Amino acid sequence: MPILSGQMMQMPLSISSLLRHAARHAGDVEVVSRRVEGDLHRTTYVEVERRARQVAQALARLGCALGERVGTLAWNGHRHLELFYGISGSGRVCHTINPRLHAEQIAWIINHAQDRVLCFDLTFLPLVEQLAPQIPSVAHWVLMTDRGHMPASSSLESLLCYEELLAAEDGHWAWPEFDENTASGLCYTSGTTGMPKGVLYSHRSTVLHALGQVSVDAMGIGSRDVVLPVTPMFHVNAWGVPFAAPMVGAKLVFPGPRLDGASLHELMESERVTFTAGVPTVWLGLITHMKKLGLSFSTLRRTVIGGAACPPAMMRTLEDDFGLEVIHAWGMTETSPLGTLAHLKAKHASLDAEARRLLQQKQGKVIYGVDLTIVDANDQPLPWDGRTAGQLLVRGHWVVDRYLGAAKNGSDSPHVDVAGERWFPTGDVATIDADGYMQITDRSKDVIKSGGEWISSIVLENIAMAHPAVHEAAAIACHHPKWDERPLLIVVCKPGAEPSAQELLRFFDGKVAAWQVPDDVVFVDELPHTATGKLLKMALRDTYRDHRLPGV
Ligand code: AMP
Repeated sequence: MPILSGQMMQMPLSISSLLRHAARHAGDVEVVSRRVEGDLHRTTYVEVERRARQVAQALARLGCALGERVGTLAWNGHRHLELFYGISGSGRVCHTINPRLHAEQIAWIINHAQDRVLCFDLTFLPLVEQLAPQIPSVAHWVLMTDRGHMPASSSLESLLCYEELLAAEDGHWAWPEFDENTASGLCYTSGTTGMPKGVLYSHRSTVLHALGQVSVDAMGIGSRDVVLPVTPMFHVNAWGVPFAAPMVGAKLVFPGPRLDGASLHELMESERVTFTAGVPTVWLGLITHMKKLGLSFSTLRRTVIGGAACPPAMMRTLEDDFGLEVIHAWGMTETSPLGTLAHLKAKHASLDAEARRLLQQKQGKVIYGVDLTIVDANDQPLPWDGRTAGQLLVRGHWVVDRYLGAAKNGSDSPHVDVAGERWFPTGDVATIDADGYMQITDRSKDVIKSGGEWISSIVLENIAMAHPAVHEAAAIACHHPKWDERPLLIVVCKPGAEPSAQELLRFFDGKVAAWQVPDDVVFVDELPHTATGKLLKMALRDTYRDHRLPGV
């Protein structure tokens, strides 16, 4: 029993409350979507909320029980948004599936989640037809389009049309209230190592995350913003933007399947986008396109870049050449995803430009709701001196407690106990400085261990990316008979550039200790990426682990 109970209203933190709020207080604010069908669709929060209720009614009519999983294979668009709310808001679980994964992995994930209904964009019809025999839990197939775009025939038994499903419902249905700890969404980790693991978000964790996310020390999204989430809704719910934007009544612009530089720039300009969020690889395409045509941004002011380290050279280009405020952020599927953002504190105003920049290039500091620490191999806390690197642990209101299917406090729990507190091990290696700014030095598996000393692959990649001839770079560990591992740099050059390996390696002089400079450079046409746009270093290690280094 509490010492004395507070006497305030108790309202569960529910996902539906976000959209109800938007419909009531920002009902005429637009939600614009570039659709797979090729058109640019415009709707409003009032409409989205009404259609989300129809989604909920349709799911009930299909016999999808509360708590059951509804899978989505879809781009960022208004129908996906309606599903987010219609599924979760009615007490079912919205399972966003990453279509860029291998078909086998997708089937594995759907079976693991036991999805009962599968909703998908036209793009993914062939994929779903191929997967269907392997995913017996799915009872209903919903193609997210209108009658006019339904295929003449399909191998899927009784393929349903999304627009027809909604049209059959009258929308006279009220959002139910239930415990805020009810599961709302499910997202599997990218699985760069081993099988993907399911992270089951709750209504409470999602709403608290959105509250933190809109604050000025996080994404600072407000009602005057026009927000374009480039991050896919199938990757950690587009970093929570589809929940944060309705919370503040911000206009939403969805890019659909076209994520190339030209399409994104055109949409940002025509819809007067002010804020966007995405991984560094997206910006590579945008920057190349804009530089080629000498373009600028007329309304875009701020962007959050995360999901992988934002190369300092990219940050500088976006700030100096395009006038953007770049906010470097770190997070994971397991942290919903926001963990840290690199905003400056008041006391940093007096720093010179370069010192401020160095701070902003770190992954940043936590917002309330998340805490972090670094520990050594024996789980002992390490000093916050900005130099000592250790395993990064996190805890907080929107951090995973256990993966889907794992027993509470079971032996398969990944958690670490530090001074009686339960922490989640991120698998990242980081430093924290006295002001709480965290800097990722590597993934534990990507660190290059040369003669027992660690070399950060991210540091090497950032230096390489600053070379004018380099489009993209990866640094990996290569086997060495004496040092065990030595760094190898794998480079994609900019069109027309042909630097020599020696020239690139000389570029490291004075930027890192001599023993940290890569031993060799391999030039390739393209680097492999994970389904979420990160460098797939595992594949690179498999190919180049035994690359013959000079002098060996
Ligand atoms: P995911 O769950 O697929 O979003 O991957 C999370 C992982 O991405 C983290 O554990 C980091 O290794 C990496 N990551 C995310 N943001 C950053 C960042 N800003 N800098 C470096 N690595 C990052």
